[in-house]
Amino acid sequence: SCQIAANPVWQGKEVTGAVIIILDVTERMRGEQLRREFTANVSHELKTPLTSISGFAEIIKDGFVKPEDTKVFASRIFKEAQRLITLVNDVIKISQLDEGEIVYQKEQVDLYQLSKEVLHRIEHSAKEKDVKLYLEGSHVQVSTVRMILDEVLFNLCENGLKYNKQGGSLTVTLKEENNKVEISVEDTGIGIPEGEQSRVFERFYRVDKSHSKAIGGTGLGLSIVKHGCMYLGAKVDVESTPGVGSKFTITM
Ligand code: ADP
Repeated sequence: SCQIAANPVWQGKEVTGAVIIILDVTERMRGEQLRREFTANVSHELKTPLTSISGFAEIIKDGFVKPEDTKVFASRIFKEAQRLITLVNDVIKISQLDEGEIVYQKEQVDLYQLSKEVLHRIEHSAKEKDVKLYLEGSHVQVSTVRMILDEVLFNLCENGLKYNKQGGSLTVTLKEENNKVEISVEDTGIGIPEGEQSRVFERFYRVDKSHSKAIGGTGLGLSIVKHGCMYLGAKVDVESTPGVGSKFTITM
């Protein structure tokens, strides 16, 4: 708050006017707080697998592992190292999108072809889980950054498979209407409770920590989806019913 005197004088002269600049720093402070939280989360997420790797390696080094068990310990180390690689790659992707440090080139992309390629990449895991994959719609063309849309679509399809039930289905649908393009990824999986639906896009947020841990993941996939969509000038929404399934829709 400030008070202005009745006849203000400054350096011997009467003041006839004033310019007041008010800067709202709420957004900036929130940004800084989010960045601090992110750094704390990343450090924690890096520490957990590193502690396991170091522990398992030490046990082997000290000769406490029987030769026949070495393989088990080595695969634990390998698994934790893989997790670290995924995590570091995810963090790099988010910061690149966030900082806008790289300007990606747009190109003409056939969404049907792109979706087909993405589904092809998860075909093997889908077979193992007996999940049927469907692609509906036509050869819609958009001018976009192929690499980012590929990543966004892949993350959604990977989740649609990961959180699906044995024998379920995953459908990618493409629609074009009134100059708008919609890509939806719908699964018949475990679903997301209503109160959690907006939170799943937050960095490191996972609905059921113990269940999600068994499934595996970094909690960054949907954050990459959100940031990727923002970069592309698109938006992403979710509709879901627990026990029935989820539908993520990208509108461009
Ligand atoms: P991750 O899958 O690595 O945990 P994500 O950011 O991709 O991280 O997703 C965040 C959380 O949202 C997941 O842990 C899961 O609880 C929930 N989730 C995401 N996609 C789905 C889906 N298709 N069905 C049910 N839950 C989902």
